[in-house]
Amino acid sequence: MEQNDSYPIYWSAPYQKEAIARITEIKKDEIKVNQTLFYPSGGGQLADKGIIVYQQQEIEIVEIEKKEDGNWLKVRSDKISLLAEGEEVLLKLDWDRRYSFMKSHTAQHLVSHVLEHLFDVETLKANFEEDKIDIEISRKMSQEEILEVLKKVNRLIDEGAEVKSIMVNKDAYKNKYRDVARGKISDEEVVRLIQLGDGEGFDITCCGGVHITNLSEIKGVFLDTFKGDSLKFLLDAEGIDTANNQRALMLNLEELTEKRGNKLVDMLTNKMNENQVLQEGNLNLLKMLFSKISNWSQKINGMNIALLHLPEIDRQALQSAARELEKGFLIVVLGRNDILYFISTDETIMANDINAKIIERTSAKGGGNKGFAQVNVKNIEEPLALVQEVLSAI
Ligand SMILES: [Zn+2]
Repeated sequence: MEQNDSYPIYWSAPYQKEAIARITEIKKDEIKVNQTLFYPSGGGQLADKGIIVYQQQEIEIVEIEKKEDGNWLKVRSDKISLLAEGEEVLLKLDWDRRYSFMKSHTAQHLVSHVLEHLFDVETLKANFEEDKIDIEISRKMSQEEILEVLKKVNRLIDEGAEVKSIMVNKDAYKNKYRDVARGKISDEEVVRLIQLGDGEGFDITCCGGVHITNLSEIKGVFLDTFKGDSLKFLLDAEGIDTANNQRALMLNLEELTEKRGNKLVDMLTNKMNENQVLQEGNLNLLKMLFSKISNWSQKINGMNIALLHLPEIDRQALQSAARELEKGFLIVVLGRNDILYFISTDETIMANDINAKIIERTSAKGGGNKGFAQVNVKNIEEPLALVQEVLSAI
């Protein structure tokens, strides 16, 4: 785009990192200047950050607000007295952050373009930060589809293409661009369009944001997470690091299972199914055991107590099976991962009281209520014998 003083610097010279400006107005803790170096928040993008340099002092800009009469730069209230109307200051952009936003934002244009081009999927909402893009789309997509989109996106980045900013008036927009532009329709008097590439059918959309000028400046777009119609992507070093970490995790898993790719997925699916069948079997056995608890219990100090070692049983199974228990019992189970559980159906015996006595004697960690309590007994030898001893001493 041609340099034009009536356009913001962040449009006409997006790579400009600083500018000399004159303070035209001061109100409370805000100033207005005659240069638009800083992008105010809008269109899913956060405002720029930066400083004002004046007489060797660096004054941080805490907020950039777009108002009807222009953009206002807010500083800390104890700093505003350093500045005066009519003075010249140097504006300095937090360039690393801005450049990262320019790349994320342009990458979002590209991803949205490919989503629409390949699968006719519309972008409903987009947000970006440094090295991150979040996109909400018009329908749920499969993993295969997302991977195809990313493949195309990264090929286009690899090839590189010019990103152009085009200013047109209302009529030219209507006649030439409105029907071919992706996304929302503009009703502005002067319309700014961002075009990726030159080829037929390449992306063009109305946008007032900040962009890079060539796609090749992006170093890659990587899948972070996707949940149906919500996509998250990482860019550049952030994306490469995450991809490498994920690959390292996969390598561990492959070594552990001696399977790769789909065979690994199949094996894990089978294992999980088997595990579910086993767990259901365990639960049924436990329910049967609990329904006949009077056959298994013993009297200690006049209380009906059942002490059981069931190393496959977890909390969830115990709580589910506890519904089968009749009144008047204390069940003590040494379960999975060396957790000792107390279940009481006897109004006179509090599970958490007995549990507290074990904690007191061993300083193990645990807690619970009068019906159900648990304690980790990993470092305790023969915990069930200890329970018997504690109960005998009551
Ligand atoms: Zn844009």
